[in-house]
Amino acid sequence: MAIDRIIIVGGGTAGWMAAAALSRLKTGRPVAITLVESEAIGTVGVGEATIPPFLDFNKLLGVDEREMLSAVQGSFKLGIQFVNWGKLGDSYIHPFGNYGYQIGGISFHHLWHKYHQAGDKRPIQLFNMETIAAHFSRFARTDDYQRDDLPPINYAYHVDATRYARFLRSYAETRGVVRREGKVADVALDGESGFVTSITMDDGDVIGGDLFIDCSGFRGLLIEQALKTGYEDWTNYLPCDRAVALPCVREDGSGPLPYTRSTAHSAGWQWQVPLQHRNGNGHVYCSEYMSDDEAHGILVGNLAGKPGAEPNFLRFVTGRRKKFWNKNVVALGLSAGFMEPLESTSIHLVNTGINKLIALLSLDGITQVQEDAFNRLTGKEYARIRDFLILHYNSTTRDDSAFWNYCRNMDVPDSLTEKIELFRHNGQIFREDDELFTETSWAAVMMGQGIAMTGHNAMADALPEPATRKEYDAIQQSIRFVVDHMPQHGDYLRNYCPAPD
Ligand code: FAD
Repeated sequence: MAIDRIIIVGGGTAGWMAAAALSRLKTGRPVAITLVESEAIGTVGVGEATIPPFLDFNKLLGVDEREMLSAVQGSFKLGIQFVNWGKLGDSYIHPFGNYGYQIGGISFHHLWHKYHQAGDKRPIQLFNMETIAAHFSRFARTDDYQRDDLPPINYAYHVDATRYARFLRSYAETRGVVRREGKVADVALDGESGFVTSITMDDGDVIGGDLFIDCSGFRGLLIEQALKTGYEDWTNYLPCDRAVALPCVREDGSGPLPYTRSTAHSAGWQWQVPLQHRNGNGHVYCSEYMSDDEAHGILVGNLAGKPGAEPNFLRFVTGRRKKFWNKNVVALGLSAGFMEPLESTSIHLVNTGINKLIALLSLDGITQVQEDAFNRLTGKEYARIRDFLILHYNSTTRDDSAFWNYCRNMDVPDSLTEKIELFRHNGQIFREDDELFTETSWAAVMMGQGIAMTGHNAMADALPEPATRKEYDAIQQSIRFVVDHMPQHGDYLRNYCPAPD
């Protein structure tokens, strides 16, 4: 069956990202794209921290960075600061860029370990530009400083989720996407194939389609309620199941920090996402160990200013849909699954879902091969991200609450155990299945959580000295020099992409 009509159900971040990207399809024949959303139902509206591949999504759309950031009160993000995770009083940054760079084909952390063992006690963080810039609250883009002796600076954005969806809506509507307001009341399936044939709106209007993209959020209106796809529950690995979100205007004199902060509490953790006009905040917690009132109280007690809205309480079950693409329905966003926001991976998964869908899409119809490939690749992506998230919870020495005792002692997937053991042994990290997180990401979080390497790749010992040591020292000095000349992040935003007051 040819695809002439694409229906997107849901107008949250996922729905409008899909609409914006699909509106750029040059198909050679007309394809009608309709997005259905309900203002009465609304969106979760809390996904505000992104990771570097998000820049590519905006490039794919041809969006001007300054214009977009200005429209969404955006700021830059160099990484995530984790406070109280490995143990109380601890803090480390998971940076978006690499530690140093490979020397003689050897990843930098092996070299660091070699010198560290020989008595050089400089922390590895000194060799990462994003960490040092974040520490001093400074920011610049690689284009602003021409240095070919350092790797480019890696960054992502913090965005106001509601404004970003609005920005994409205007983008998509300008390119022909038709928005339909109203609630979907019913979904019709073909008796033989089981494909979705149409949706019925609450005013009785019937909207037929050939390909349906389910962006209806946690409820999974098509993928679950209509197609009964099933859900793989990961609560045993990722036990948090609640969040309370609350914005605040900064009153503590701090400017917008160029990083997200994640502070662990007794049964979960709190995020702080600095935008130009406010901070986004939220407390993710586990209902088995903490009540809503307690979680709200902890959040309010740890804000950089007075609450700017009523608290928004959310419930979720960590895990993934058993199939992301089922018949003629592709689930994107929260309808596909949710692993919690610790490493800001949800919008990223929307992005990679869209990329795969566009790459596989044929207007001649849907094949089983497409569906299987999409499901296999997405399943692997989810599993690798899941392991990375579990690492934060499980690798801790915290024993100050029942929640942390559970996390410290819980069973973890064998794939994660292997990763930790290999790293402990000689610092080796293998990226599997094209996984999202880099060697530096894994090394940063493992070391940050207190997992120490006991050895390193023996090839690091074969590198020529004193030349290698000289290069090693120069990396630290160059990073410090560049960061010292960077403007404060707040000043950078005011000059580069100021948002209206
Ligand atoms: P939603 O925002 O829920 O949108 C669903 C849409 O479907 C709405 O438009 C709604 O009106 C429509 N709809 C539903 N039912 C019907 C119906 N019957 N008829 C018509 N329309 C309907 N991600 C990140 O990348 N970074 C983060 O920092 C981050 N933080 C998060 C924190 C929390 C606590 C949570 C819960 C999520 C977070 N996420 C984060 C995830 C992120 O918010 C979502 O991935 C993203 O917003 C996409 O949501 P969505 O569009 O799938 O769903």
